[in-house]
Amino acid sequence: MDAIVLGGGLMGAASAYFLARRGVRVTLLERNRVGSGATVASFGNIRRSGRYIPQLGLARRSLALWGEAARMLGRDVEFRATGHLRLIFSQAGLDEMRAFAEAARPWDVDLEELGPAEIRSRFPGLGPKAIAASFSPKDGSGNPRLIAPAFAEAARRLGAEIVEDAEVTAIRTSASGFRIETSRGAYAAETMLNTAGAWGARIAARFGETVPIVAKGPQMGVTEPLPHRILPVVGVWAHDHGGGYLRQVERGNIVFGGGAERTDVSLDSGHAKADPARLPGQLRALLPILPALAHVAVIRTWSGCEGYVGDGLPVMGPSATTPGLFHAFGFCGHGFQLGPGVGDVMAEVMTTGRTEVFLHDFRIDRF
Ligand SMILES: Cc1cc2nc3c(=O)[nH]c(=O)nc-3n(C[C@H](O)[C@H](O)[C@H](O)COP(=O)(O)OP(=O)(O)OC[C@H]3O[C@@H](n4cnc5c(N)ncnc54)[C@H](O)[C@@H]3O)c2cc1C
Repeated sequence: MDAIVLGGGLMGAASAYFLARRGVRVTLLERNRVGSGATVASFGNIRRSGRYIPQLGLARRSLALWGEAARMLGRDVEFRATGHLRLIFSQAGLDEMRAFAEAARPWDVDLEELGPAEIRSRFPGLGPKAIAASFSPKDGSGNPRLIAPAFAEAARRLGAEIVEDAEVTAIRTSASGFRIETSRGAYAAETMLNTAGAWGARIAARFGETVPIVAKGPQMGVTEPLPHRILPVVGVWAHDHGGGYLRQVERGNIVFGGGAERTDVSLDSGHAKADPARLPGQLRALLPILPALAHVAVIRTWSGCEGYVGDGLPVMGPSATTPGLFHAFGFCGHGFQLGPGVGDVMAEVMTTGRTEVFLHDFRIDRF
């Protein structure tokens, strides 16, 4: 069997790796550099709490693969299971957290509930006015700059062809499969996987499949380096104080996001810009989480082009119109955690026609 994977973000690179591991002859086509889309812009949160409950089977499979990534890919992609702390400032937050914890327990998401005294003793300096928090000890973060190139390199070692700077000019179907013409030559395969991220709906539309998607840019920032004190990824429940989140990387910088509306992005340019006017509001949203941020300099802001599907869920599975075509796109700002699992499950579906992971709610013909 052979396959073309169209789009070299985390989803495409991971799919190429797992397809190659299953003996498929894979060509990964990326019009820029592998991982240079939404993936590199990501905050890097590997979080299961707050997810759509039917997605937790996929998230569980993905978390296990994050744990194996360094050995599997032969490279430290900086996955650290430091835990995920989510602070609660309101009764609405407490109710949301408890309802989620109950529903997520069968999926091995073990949320510890912490009171104010425990937050202060275990996580000094964080959320001084928080009334409670959840702590998910097995979650954490990874390095968004490393993960897609690491999957692509590992796929290449297994025989996959990785083609960068390949602008697609035409896609044709025939009885024998797909022929894709690009600025770097023509490629043909029996099967094709659409992992074009925010542009995935444009690819799907070529096959008569309509997906309502908008491109948005979440705004991120990073501070100057500071002594390394904050171990877990930190966020809030119920969008309290605007839903900010942060983590401190081992080199000491604090990376942050949330607390600001996502900016509109044109899919034609794909260029998502941070808006400096939104930064003060964003920092205000973060102060209840970490008051010490008031004394810290922000050294860089950025954004990235991500596709948000109308119902907030991704598109995953076989095409409803075209045999041999599969989709995995539209990850709505929460695909980083899912990436390795998406690659593994898509390779399974493409090679065996089935998977035990629940994908029904992500099928393309739900619209
Ligand atoms: C700022 C920001 C912060 C985020 N933070 C988190 C987080 O903390 N945790 C989390 O779980 N998720 C997070 N996400 C979401 C996560 O990063 C994405 O869901 C995930 O990276 C999507 O991966 P992808 O491979 O689908 O898309 P992308 O990484 O965008 O890859 C798609 C690729 O397809 C290529 N492509 C498109 N069209 C074509 C074409 N016609 N021909 C060839 N190539 C094409 C593009 O160039 C691109 O490289 C964040 C996203 C952003 C933008």
